[in-house]
Amino acid sequence: MQTTLILLKPDTIERGLIGNVISRIEAKWLQIAWMKMIQLDNDIINEHYAHIADKPFFPAIVKYMQRTPVIAIAAKGKNAVLVVRSLIWATNPLDALPWTVRGDLALNIDANIIHASDSEENAEIELKRFFKGEGIFEYSRLIDEVL
Ligand code: GDP
Repeated sequence: MQTTLILLKPDTIERGLIGNVISRIEAKWLQIAWMKMIQLDNDIINEHYAHIADKPFFPAIVKYMQRTPVIAIAAKGKNAVLVVRSLIWATNPLDALPWTVRGDLALNIDANIIHASDSEENAEIELKRFFKGEGIFEYSRLIDEVL
């Protein structure tokens, strides 16, 4: 069982797509193990996007990520990291297949709806970053009994 970190970015909140995206995560049989809405400050954005801090588009990302609060989700399930990356698909929505989150809902790379951890190692780091000090829930659902 793995747990991965998902962020619903400001365009998801602004466009009223929260339910659409979360329903895809649930429909894939993943369990929502934690969820909260937070306004990101500069420190957490700088940490989370340290790997693109030297890119020319970084200041625009910082502004975009602070336009509204975001929704942070811990999603749990078998191979959750890879499964969610497959659900969201390519960074650039132009390269994302239809029936995926970015393929269906995003038009350009400046506002691509969602973030999801890209490896088990990063999931662990990112879950700590967004849920530090707050335990992820353990509970069972009826639908998991037939898994
Ligand atoms: P992700 O894991 O698929 O989100 O991709 P990255 O970690 O490589 O990039 C983080 C975020 O930076 C992406 O989701 C985009 O919002 C943004 N980004 C990445 N590459 C570009 C780019 O070439 N141009 C612009 N405008 N934004 C980018």
